[in-house]
Amino acid sequence: MENITRRETSPVQVGGVTIGGNMPVVIQSMTNTKTADLQATLDQIKQLAEAGCELIRLAVPDDEAVQAFSYLARKSPVPLVADIHFDARLALEAMENGAAKIRINPGNIGGRDKLIELARKAEQLKVPIRVGVNAGSLEKRLLDKHGGANAAALVESALGYLDVLEQIGFSRIVVSLKASNVLTTLKAYRLISEQKPYPLHLGVTGAGPLRTGLIKGAIGIGSLLADGIGDTIRVSLTAHPVEEVRAAKQILQSLGLNRYSPELISCPTCGRCAVDLVALVNEAEALLENYRLPLKVAVMGCVVNGPGEAKEADLGISAGKKHGIVFSHGKVVRTVDLDYLLDALKEELDRETARHGRTGEEF
Ligand code: SF4
Repeated sequence: MENITRRETSPVQVGGVTIGGNMPVVIQSMTNTKTADLQATLDQIKQLAEAGCELIRLAVPDDEAVQAFSYLARKSPVPLVADIHFDARLALEAMENGAAKIRINPGNIGGRDKLIELARKAEQLKVPIRVGVNAGSLEKRLLDKHGGANAAALVESALGYLDVLEQIGFSRIVVSLKASNVLTTLKAYRLISEQKPYPLHLGVTGAGPLRTGLIKGAIGIGSLLADGIGDTIRVSLTAHPVEEVRAAKQILQSLGLNRYSPELISCPTCGRCAVDLVALVNEAEALLENYRLPLKVAVMGCVVNGPGEAKEADLGISAGKKHGIVFSHGKVVRTVDLDYLLDALKEELDRETARHGRTGEEF
């Protein structure tokens, strides 16, 4: 089986989470509540952490938000990242208030001296800085030089800021180069990964609503990860942020970079299918989220061809007109009433869990 060889980067510590080095790719998302709304924000932080988010970013646009940060950082089950634009003072205060990392766009934070002031404080508090360059806010000089917001302009912009940080010996750095164009994103990350050792935060910005964003994110983030590039990811979606975490897990699992639940295989359905397979697959997907077994599980739409078409599955169910079958490693092991098919799958999964001799959590 093919594996990805990951590019090794200089690790940075974000609270208890390491980004880079040989560590697994870290999943991030961002809350979309008003940060100053303590209850709503904490509820969403907990929801995201429960879904598997390992670092959570919060917008810090004003004094109310920066004050809220202190309470939220104490209560959060995972490290929090403060996202700051335009006001270096808020970044300084966010670090004082428990931000495990700050994300700035150095192009709008107030100039070279402000960047240096932030880095000195970050060094003192051992807080990493994400240098988040964005195609939408590149320096005019670079846009003119490179003929627009392309990969070369993004990289040159980032290199300029990195140079400032390196001159004062600051190395707690994560870099992102975001554009809404997938090809620009790919090229920019590939270029910078050849030039700098810093961990890379991958994302395609402004990717769009759920369906479009999932595809753009999967192509952009997935292509880079497949090349061994990338240390932490955020799948930007105009949707509930838990969807971003689900998508990130799916990307990592599809590339064999992590495993969160059994891999679900399902048939595309055809004229032989006699049940509402879409509903059945959705229920099976929810069921599988409770298991961390290293298995492939198939859900197929007919009892005649299903098991054959899912030969590579370890376990599977196929739905017929009146009854369904449960199969294991290509052989039918049980025939059950259609209504009982999901329960039968659950029983098989529990049996596998017992057979592996440990709970799902320990995989
Ligand atoms: S498993 Fe059956 S229903 Fe599904 S695509 Fe194949 S033949 Fe059609």
